[in-house]
Amino acid sequence: MANHKHNHKKLKKLSRKRIGTSIFLIVLAGTLVASIVVVFLSFFAMYMLENKISDGVQLAAYGAEEIREVLPDEEIAGEDTEWRPDTDTEAAIAKVLARSGEFTDWVILAPDGTEVMHEGNLTYASEGTVFDLAGEYSVYADQDMDILDENGESVRRMLALAWKSLWADDYRDGWSEETMLQQDYWPVAAIGESGYQFVMRAKLVIRRKDLFYAGLIAFVSLTAVFVVMIFMLLNLIFSIRTQRRITRLLYTDTTTCGRNWTFFCLQGQRVLNRRIRGGTACAVVDVHLQKYQNYCACNGIRNGECLLEDLHEALGSCIGKKELCAHYNGADFAMFLSCRDGQELAERVQRIAVSVPAVLQQNRLRLQFGIAYLSTQTQNGEKVTKKTKTDIISVFNNALAARASIADKPDVPYAFFDESLLEQQRWEEFVEDHMEEALLREEFVVYLQPKYDPSNDQLAGAEALVRWNSPIAGFVAPYKFIPIFEKNGFITKLDDYMISHVAALQAQWIARGKQVVPVSVNVSRAHFGDPDLAEHIRDLVDTYKTPHEYIEIELTESAFFDDKQLLLATVHRLKEYGFDISMDDFGAGYSSLNSLKDLPLDVLKLDAEFFRGENESERGEIVVSEAIRLAKSLHMRIVAEGVEKENQVAFLARQGCDMIQGYYYAKPMPASEFETTRMADTGSDASDNR
Ligand code: C2E
Ligand code: MG
Ligand code: MG
Repeated sequence: MANHKHNHKKLKKLSRKRIGTSIFLIVLAGTLVASIVVVFLSFFAMYMLENKISDGVQLAAYGAEEIREVLPDEEIAGEDTEWRPDTDTEAAIAKVLARSGEFTDWVILAPDGTEVMHEGNLTYASEGTVFDLAGEYSVYADQDMDILDENGESVRRMLALAWKSLWADDYRDGWSEETMLQQDYWPVAAIGESGYQFVMRAKLVIRRKDLFYAGLIAFVSLTAVFVVMIFMLLNLIFSIRTQRRITRLLYTDTTTCGRNWTFFCLQGQRVLNRRIRGGTACAVVDVHLQKYQNYCACNGIRNGECLLEDLHEALGSCIGKKELCAHYNGADFAMFLSCRDGQELAERVQRIAVSVPAVLQQNRLRLQFGIAYLSTQTQNGEKVTKKTKTDIISVFNNALAARASIADKPDVPYAFFDESLLEQQRWEEFVEDHMEEALLREEFVVYLQPKYDPSNDQLAGAEALVRWNSPIAGFVAPYKFIPIFEKNGFITKLDDYMISHVAALQAQWIARGKQVVPVSVNVSRAHFGDPDLAEHIRDLVDTYKTPHEYIEIELTESAFFDDKQLLLATVHRLKEYGFDISMDDFGAGYSSLNSLKDLPLDVLKLDAEFFRGENESERGEIVVSEAIRLAKSLHMRIVAEGVEKENQVAFLARQGCDMIQGYYYAKPMPASEFETTRMADTGSDASDNR
């Protein structure tokens, strides 16, 4: 159950759609990338600007170099701040600077900042200070590192204006060469090592093509971001669609093409919680199509599936908006119904039963309902509160249990789940929780029921029957736990336990010189699925060195309906090892004659049903005597079970029945009692002990 719940949690997770989160993540990623692009672009613009400024700086350095060439070394050597060029030097400087035509407005400054000589227009921002930019070049700039023109206008502001006029069409010098921004600035270059400086007017020119390239880069990168975002969004939409399709498949039943059990559990739990919160009654119903297996056997599985599909449709048309119907498995459907009370629910279920598809009616197929009704009160009679936890799967299990309780009564249309079924469920849980421990603590007790020879009332054998002496549940009869063990497979362990204990008892009695009779042990049908069963039983018995002829194996004829070949092989080997085999409950329900034909059995145990009822009928006696004759002809011994009356014993003795096991002689009793009251050191008359 825990595992089941875990799987449902996983499914829930899988089906949850995370659209909001995905969109948020995409938008976040897009914003992040766009911001990175914007930062990158502003860096690029700064780089472009600095590149252009460094052109001017290089030009100034070139000018300073040229000046240094024409100055005689001795003239500017030392720290002579008083030095002034003579006319010849001035002329030489002016000449060399005029040569390239690049220097129009310039000035040479002494180390103390005083002007040595100049040419052209020197209206530079005299309030500005000389700034050393990363040691590479100096420009006259204001405190904000912004380059200002002589009117104090900022280059950055002008750059913004230039951007604005980028797409203006009244250009003059050809589209790409159009000057968008022109700005003077004053690069400074040192003249040799002298401490004198050459300061010149340089022009920062931003052309339309510069801005165009920057714009192009911005456009391309932002477009790329946009395209990536669109792609991611498309991908998201696609994956959501795929997820929806998978979810739909996950919730679709392959047989009926309608909703499946998984959907029922998820959605049903939600609706159930809502109902509980709202304090209204509801019901979970198991709808079982009776004789579905027969229908499939006659009409084929495909037609059977079509039938289920029709049935699903019919059931679906009987439910309201907030109700559910889904295929559970095989011939069972799960329904969630709302109702006012149990009475209304029962009427509703009967209405559903008659509105089944015509094909069901044609084939005389009928529905049977198991109903788990959830009233506004809990099982303990308390009012259901918002905190009451009800699990849809366990409620449906209750519905299944209710249905199972009428499985053998096909005419009963529905059953409500009630306390007694809950009791049974609790008991099953108790048995499952305690069985292992009980086996370890030897709480299972061997009872022996003697078998007597009716011709002389001598003890001829015994059957080992288990009882559970539980410290919690008390003394428990086998019918209360054997069917549970048969369902959960624990029966094989119990069988081993019984074989070992009987073998041990027999070995003890032999050692003590007691009159030992064969004791039969029941081996369940499930055990015969083990191909090594014969060797397994042999080894268990051999542990106590008990002669094999003192252990008899009882198998029920139902074992014959499993793997017939395997059963035959096991029976043959058991006989080889010297064990006698008996067929238990012969004549109860199944057709047994066929099994008698093939199985080399030693003993036939006539079912107790033959001896039930008040008056013995002549026909019953004929059947019993013929069964005895049949066994004799097949060289088998015959045991009559459940014999309680003296006249039955007399009749069986007359018919030559070999042994009688019944209350007439003795009820099953503890092994110690069997030993003291039934066994003797030498043969004794059993009737004395009756
Ligand atoms: P079974 O093997 O057919 O055992 C005979 C049952 O009939 C026993 O019931 C016995 O007490 C009962 N019985 C015998 N004579 C009379 C009689 O004259 N009148 C009435 N009314 N009943 C009589 P018990 O002990 O309750 O066992 C029931 C069934 O439980 C057994 O039927 C057997 O199938 C199963 N069982 C019991 N012990 C074991 C076991 O150790 N292993 C396995 N696999 N099954 C066991
Ligand atoms: Mg038996
Ligand atoms: Mg029996």
